[in-house]
Amino acid sequence: MNYYSTRSKNNFVSFKTAVMEGLAKDGGLFMPESIASLPHSMMQEIEKYSFQEIGYEVSKNFIGGEIPNQKLLTIIESAIDFPAPLVELSDQLSVLELFHGPTLAFKDFGARFMAKTMEYFAGDLEKELNILVATSGDTGSAVAYGFYGVEGINVFILYPKGKVSLIQEKQLTTLDKNITAIEVNGTFDDCQRLVKDAFVDDELKAKLNLSSANSINIARLIPQTFYFINAYRQIKDKTKPVVISVPSGNLGNITAGLFAKKMGILITKFIGATNRNDVFTEFINTNKINPRSSVHTLSNAMDVGNPSNLERIVDLYSEDAANVRKDISSSSWSDELTKEGIREVFEKYNYIIDPHGAVGYQALKQFLSSYDAGSVNGIVVETAHPAKFKSTVDETIGRDIEIPERLASCLTKKKNTVLLGNDFKALKDYLVNA
Ligand SMILES: *Cc1c(COP(=O)(O)O)cnc(C)c1O
Repeated sequence: MNYYSTRSKNNFVSFKTAVMEGLAKDGGLFMPESIASLPHSMMQEIEKYSFQEIGYEVSKNFIGGEIPNQKLLTIIESAIDFPAPLVELSDQLSVLELFHGPTLAFKDFGARFMAKTMEYFAGDLEKELNILVATSGDTGSAVAYGFYGVEGINVFILYPKGKVSLIQEKQLTTLDKNITAIEVNGTFDDCQRLVKDAFVDDELKAKLNLSSANSINIARLIPQTFYFINAYRQIKDKTKPVVISVPSGNLGNITAGLFAKKMGILITKFIGATNRNDVFTEFINTNKINPRSSVHTLSNAMDVGNPSNLERIVDLYSEDAANVRKDISSSSWSDELTKEGIREVFEKYNYIIDPHGAVGYQALKQFLSSYDAGSVNGIVVETAHPAKFKSTVDETIGRDIEIPERLASCLTKKKNTVLLGNDFKALKDYLVNA
């Protein structure tokens, strides 16, 4: 399958290059040359397919023979080995739970699939691949767990000392083998700058085979498409319109949903639900793109001031704003209303939703207010397990919620990091000698 850059549509690269390079040389994002519909026979009998079988059929559309089918199946079976259930709360509200992976957020799907795909392609390399990632929390842990134990690839995760939560730090720093956590005496911006400096340092590039694993890699979006189609499979009454509300930051998740729609599943509307960081909401409502600094909120994985995948969405609709608005609506919610959402879902449905999901819930509820009760399949995408945001959730509903075993177990393990200053020389010396 050929991929082009959102910034130069005439230069094509292979799927392998798109995955291994992450970002196009001109700074654009890679897009598949075409997105084929799934076979009509498959759509007719979608209930008979398993989650993994859906993943296999969908990924063939994105990969186009660059990974042999049998190998692709193995990658999917090992990367996607946990479910994404659609939990019904009422006749018009269901929650798509995407937190059953090792780090309890949807990013596990993307990180694990990307890791296995890179492992496959790294087999052709003569030298080991070294991946550098800067993280402010969630992405780093998903990447660390995704690449843990993967052959031929070392991962160095840079995070700002003292600026991630205890749970996040434990997830980042308690793995061994090929994962190294680098604690930087500085801010997240320092970490990002260090990674960027490393990629343009010729000496370092000559010595080490460097790559990145950031959120714009196309390999992260592909498995996210699987669970939208798998959600459709689980809908009981497919005669009613489907509206899916996606709590959004960098817009990777909603872009994957739009890919799923292009492949032929019938979704009437996507809602891009935002917190006070509302660049996307403004874009949908006014067609203006006005990036700005992010502000801190309770749904902090959505604190994004310049959503990177917006470029993909605009490209997908050939820059036709009216068509974008036909498929997508958007609304933005304050921390106060986020908490109200958590409280309301608990009181009405006895379901504990996390702050990101609560933003999605508010946006869906507002959207459905103009429809007759029960006439629509409303779906909220629950992007993280509430225990990841335990203090907010506990305080809001007045409970002491349970921490799942896979999260609790890393809390008792010993932290292991390399402590570095925020200057590039320190990082370079360390990497050269590592
Ligand atoms: C990353 C993340 C989001 C935002 O997803 P995008 O794909 O960046 O829009 C939402 N919720 C949680 C819990 C996340 O970790």
